[in-house]
Amino acid sequence: MAYLEPAPIKDRENPLESMMERFNIAAEKLGLSDEVYNVLKNPAKQVIVSLPITMDNGKIQVFEGIRVIHSNILGPAKGGIRFAPDVHLDEVRALAAWMTWKCAVVDIPYGGGKGGVRCNPREMSKGEIERLMRAYTMAMIDVFGPDKDIPAPDMGTGPREMAWLMDEYSKAHGMTVPAVVTGKPLVLGGSLGRTEATGRGVMVSALAAMQKLKINPFQATCAVQGFGNVGSWAARLLEERGLKVVAISDHTGAFYNEKGINVVEAIAYRDANNGTLEGFAGGDKMENAGDLLTLKVDVLVPAAVEDVITIANADKIKAKLIVEGANGPTSAKADAILNEKGIMAVPDILANAGGVTVSYFEWVQNRLGYKWTADRVNRRSDRIMKDAFDHVYEASVKYDVPMRIAAYIVAIDKVAKTYTFRGGF
Ligand code: GLU
Repeated sequence: MAYLEPAPIKDRENPLESMMERFNIAAEKLGLSDEVYNVLKNPAKQVIVSLPITMDNGKIQVFEGIRVIHSNILGPAKGGIRFAPDVHLDEVRALAAWMTWKCAVVDIPYGGGKGGVRCNPREMSKGEIERLMRAYTMAMIDVFGPDKDIPAPDMGTGPREMAWLMDEYSKAHGMTVPAVVTGKPLVLGGSLGRTEATGRGVMVSALAAMQKLKINPFQATCAVQGFGNVGSWAARLLEERGLKVVAISDHTGAFYNEKGINVVEAIAYRDANNGTLEGFAGGDKMENAGDLLTLKVDVLVPAAVEDVITIANADKIKAKLIVEGANGPTSAKADAILNEKGIMAVPDILANAGGVTVSYFEWVQNRLGYKWTADRVNRRSDRIMKDAFDHVYEASVKYDVPMRIAAYIVAIDKVAKTYTFRGGF
């Protein structure tokens, strides 16, 4: 359980500082003017609200809700809503900026935003979560909109919460507005392929990187941290492509199996077990879940929370390739250690962009009133992910920088050029 708790203070890096450190390096490489630098550095809008909710025991509890729009230069803001007990403004600001860079890297017409509500959904009833989601939506009714700011799921939220958001927003507007939110259930205008999209993009990025590193997927081992939507789909799809997944974990612990974990069985176990891997018998439970990160594997996929690869453990990482399913799993200070060790890291803003890419397809389908087949969704998102990988790889060669900085360079260059053409917003 230890690894899901925040790192000790001395190792803890503020995610906003981590984001800014990389942004600064890329801005310098690009020779960004002070004027544009300041535009891109500061979030366009930050809203903080108090949400009084009647709990099941009849008492009123007040929750804090945040929505940050980092940028709307490329288009309406886009980004998920996180329900988590420790969510805070700096984190949401960093996550919103990462969405701007992510959308720019995969070249979709969105700016970046992110929302957060400080709560522990694991300890709340369905009714309490519903009231909270509806109250948050009403509080943000003027912020959200299909052409303004389009939320989606993130940690602690999923299709169920997006359905409530769509319903609440639609009621306030007197008509059904599916395009206000993505990641909806299929029957409400969700897209085929959206659920697995982030994990699928992780798989596509991993295979593209393995090709560059000349790692044969059929002889490669892999460890995946996090067994929520992103981690479990990434593990399953990597297994399908020939990798041996030797370790998986969630907030209840990590499991190791030298012969390979049967990921499909692990998913079935989790689904029948209240959503957790607790008691999973398809691997040995590791004494310290954090040790999953330092296993001797070819590919490591952190797909849980921020700041798990830090100066405290970066020098012990043995993987040849890290593919970031989570947002911000590697702190900026750990980057230098990984680079020195020659470990390639496919950064979050590239590797996990498959989710927002299919969110974009969902929004497009909602606006067209037309449904794409799963095949069309997958083919198009795979192509976008592969093109984005190649583009970032080329930039890393051109500027002689690691993949992470190259991804920031590609993204910042695109947003800066757009800003320069259109001027202020
Ligand atoms: N929360 C996801 C992310 O961090 C998806 C965002 C979206 O689809 O808008 O990329």
